[in-house]
Parts: sequence; C-alpha cells; structure tokens
Amino acid sequence: MGDVADQSLASACLVLLGPPGCGKGTQAARLSERLDVPAISTGDMLRAAVAEGSELGQRVSGIMAVGALVDDATMADVVRDRLGRDDAQGGFLLDGFPRTVPQAGTLSTVLEERQQELDAVLLFEVPEAVLLERTLGRQRADDSEEVIRHRLRVYEAETRPLVGYYGERDLLRRVNGDQSMEAVTASLLEALES
Ligand code: AMP
Repeated sequence: MGDVADQSLASACLVLLGPPGCGKGTQAARLSERLDVPAISTGDMLRAAVAEGSELGQRVSGIMAVGALVDDATMADVVRDRLGRDDAQGGFLLDGFPRTVPQAGTLSTVLEERQQELDAVLLFEVPEAVLLERTLGRQRADDSEEVIRHRLRVYEAETRPLVGYYGERDLLRRVNGDQSMEAVTASLLEALES
C-alpha cells in the first residue's frame, strides 16, 4: 500500500460521500495529507461562520441546529468562493458537499468554469447502527439524538440520490467505512487506484 500516495493523481478532485458519522471528516484529514490537496468541509466552514457571527453564520445557525440543510443557492456561493482560492487549484477533497442533486449540478458547473474535472466520488458504506453509535458518542452542539436521527433521514432523502447520480457518471467508488481508521484510509487509496 505504501507507494499508492506517491503515484498520487497529479490533480485529485475528489468528493467524499456518506451519512453523518461515517468517518468522512477523519479520512478527509488523512487523505489531504497523503494526496497533498486541501480538505474542504462545508460543515466546518458553516460552523466557523456561526462562531464568527457573520451574516452567513446568522442566516444558517438555526438551520444547522435542527439538522436541516442550508439552501442550495447559499451553498453554491460558499463552494464557488472556496474552490476559487489558490490552494484548491491543484485539487481538493470535498467533505459534506454536494449533499443534494442540484448541488452536484452546481459543482459540475463550477468545475467546468475552472477547467477542472471530478476524478472520483468516494462513498463510505457504514451500517446505520454503527453511525448512531458514533454520532451519539461525538456530542457536538448539533448532535442531540433527535437531531442526529433527523440528519440521517435528511441524508436518505436528499443525499442518497447522489449515489445513483455519480454511479451513472462512472465516478462512484464504494469503500467499507466500518473498519479501523487505517484500514479505511488504505481502502480509499486503493479505490483511487482503480
Ligand atoms: P456536516 O459537518 O457536514 O455534517 O454539516 C453540518 C451541518 O451544516 C449540516 O447538518 C447542514 O445543516 C449544514 N451543511 C453542511 N454542508 C451542507 C451542504 N452541502 N448543504 C446544505 N447544508 C450543509
């Protein structure tokens, strides 16, 4: 496995897809280091905006608190802006975006504008019982049990359709997320080779 990252894609434009608690955030940080591209978490960006009390933060804090999705137009602005920064020109790992089919359309438009192309969408597969156990153990402000269950339902309704969307475009790579942290990273790197 050791040399997989060394032959890393010259430009790695990747999306990490999976339900809350699937381990995307942890793996985004690990892959970011291995592939030398920034991990971009829209959840982290929005939480930072809330903490700052910016206009965006004030607009989204109530939505995030109940585990609902921020509207697609707002997310399009956030992501277009972020992908326009210098550090994303050689690739990126998107964690938490896209989350709806319209957002996937936005991503495709933004990448086209930037003359970049998505290399792969990595789908984390984790049984629901494990997701609940992990997210309940995580205890963030937006992680009460009711909110977690709501976030899982929102994932099924709004985000799961992206599995078909990217499957049809031959970009989807399925990875078993119910393994040790090291084994998941190895599986992700292996999936990128294929
Ligand atoms: P996350 O950390 O990715 O689970 O995101 C935390 C919260 O931020 C979500 O529950 C949503 O309220 C909001 N959020 C993050 N990314 C998006 C997105 N792509 N579309 C809509 N809402 C988002």
